[in-house]
Amino acid sequence: MMEHLHADIRQLLHNSNRILILSHIRPDGDAVGSMLGLGLSLLELGKDVQMVLSDGVQRTFRHLTGAENILHHSSGDFDAIITLDASDPRRLGDGLEGRTPDLNIDHHVTNLNFARLNFVLPEATATAAILAEYLPVWGLPITKPVAEALLTGMVTDTIGFRTSNMNPTTLRLAATLMEAGADLPELYKRALINRSFAATRYWGLGLSDLQREGRLAWTTLTLENRKASGYTGTDDADLTNVLSGIDECDIVVLFIEQKEGTVKVSWRAQPGWDVSQIAFSFGGGGHSAAAGADIPGTLEEVRPKVLEATRQLLDTKK
Ligand code: 5GP
Ligand code: MN
Repeated sequence: MMEHLHADIRQLLHNSNRILILSHIRPDGDAVGSMLGLGLSLLELGKDVQMVLSDGVQRTFRHLTGAENILHHSSGDFDAIITLDASDPRRLGDGLEGRTPDLNIDHHVTNLNFARLNFVLPEATATAAILAEYLPVWGLPITKPVAEALLTGMVTDTIGFRTSNMNPTTLRLAATLMEAGADLPELYKRALINRSFAATRYWGLGLSDLQREGRLAWTTLTLENRKASGYTGTDDADLTNVLSGIDECDIVVLFIEQKEGTVKVSWRAQPGWDVSQIAFSFGGGGHSAAAGADIPGTLEEVRPKVLEATRQLLDTKK
């Protein structure tokens, strides 16, 4: 089964000349890192590669080789369309333009298997980890810039190798990428530690509204907070990573107001809980310990519904 799939993927990658690579909106380190990892590797083979992120690359990842070549829109025709780290075609913004992708590489349990070939490994800690393991199997090279991109994806999705899904394979693959020339401490610092003054102020505004009810904590980042802090991103600037460390809580929820009249919701859970299904029930998806959804409505409409569904989950283990 799997051997057929690998043969098909290998054939697709080697026989296609014009290749489009897409990943999800509000791209994180795994979206950017896996895109550059695959894209730069295919460029080594002499392929004509277009890498497209509807929301562009956030400043945290612009140091990566090739980041400047990532476009907001695709143009022209392609022999192959590949999606990375996206569990649902709606996650790709307007990237697909109605086309069916040829290959979907991802690690989300909630993946809808929406492509012709679907390579989804929920036990993998990052899409970049899947690529680190399988690029060589598919006959694609891991050069230094490829290794840097993939290691960045792995470091960010595991928040520095400390998420509950961490496994020895991830560390072995990381070691291989270091041997290929990736500077782990430097990439780690740039991806997870360094942040702008504006992002730090944005955190402060979010933290000042932090609420708690038993084992549940939540806070909100409003458009007003974004403006007041000067933060230019549309995400949480990784504030969830701080919230998920609250000792007293099993589940934390972050509400991020969006210009489009939607609210981006992020859930983070301690081991033993599965928030991916709540996210899925609101039209989103993710992993058991980290999930998200983009929910239409105002903060006042979305917040009570999401909190109620989350309380119900917590009540199942009273
Ligand atoms: P975050 O809360 O950091 O945005 O995302 C946590 C996890 O849930 C990530 O793995 C992310 O890919 C997934 N996720 C976040 N938002 C959405 C969404 O709107 N739809 C789907 N399908 N997955 C999401
Ligand atoms: Mn990922």
